[in-house]
Amino acid sequence: MNKVRIVLVNTSHPGNIGAAARAMKNMGLARLYLVAPKVFPSDEADSRASGATDILENAVVVDTLEEAIADCQLVVGTSARERHIPWPLVDPRQAAEMVHEEQLESAFVFGREDRGLTNEELQRCHYHVHIPSVESFSSLNLGAAVQVLAYELRMRHLALQDAPIVASKWDVPAATADQLDHMLTHLESVLSKTEFLDPKAPRQVMTRFRRLFQRAQLDQQEVGMLRGMLTSVDKLDDKIK
Ligand code: SAH
Repeated sequence: MNKVRIVLVNTSHPGNIGAAARAMKNMGLARLYLVAPKVFPSDEADSRASGATDILENAVVVDTLEEAIADCQLVVGTSARERHIPWPLVDPRQAAEMVHEEQLESAFVFGREDRGLTNEELQRCHYHVHIPSVESFSSLNLGAAVQVLAYELRMRHLALQDAPIVASKWDVPAATADQLDHMLTHLESVLSKTEFLDPKAPRQVMTRFRRLFQRAQLDQQEVGMLRGMLTSVDKLDDKIK
């Protein structure tokens, strides 16, 4: 559970930050990241947190989602509804299972009260998780959504306490969000030089590459290999010149 962080993006109501902290502490989670909260710290957050003020005191406040997830190996974004480009989608139980099984540095990202996460923010996530609410009234209160995810993480944690400990399956550590970002920036620059990318419509292609590489859940060696491959293309360009 100490590898899991809860990230709240651009929260408007400090009461929801307090409610999230309380839900976390009830379920044994401690690491709260706040991306550009509208009001924080605040008395309202403290009072809604009840006894969970330690979580608020230790909360990490940052300006961007990138900073909040830079060292994460698994990023899960929550969404109250279906979005434009299909993305790997899991339910809260599957998400909790994945986190415990793979023992990765993980983030659960929650959006704004009025409009959730932007498409760009959702695209930074390996998986999307939707709490299966009714379609005609699908959006939960932010604190309630954190509670559901935290509860599933707790249930899985308790189930595993009776089970034998499984060693991590993979031989190389999973890549972090920051490492993947650098690889994608490198890829974009090489593909622009080779003219694979059409400068008039480059964005969607890079989004699809991001989705592809995130789906593969690359390890750090694989990111290194891809970077090496891109560097060799860069060098080829120099040789031709
Ligand atoms: N009107 C917004 C809803 C935001 S609710 C929208 O359509 O996206 C605030 C946040 O609570 C969401 O960004 C998400 O993090 C979480 N949330 C609310 N309902 C959810 C659901 N059914 N499944 C997953 N997350 C949910």
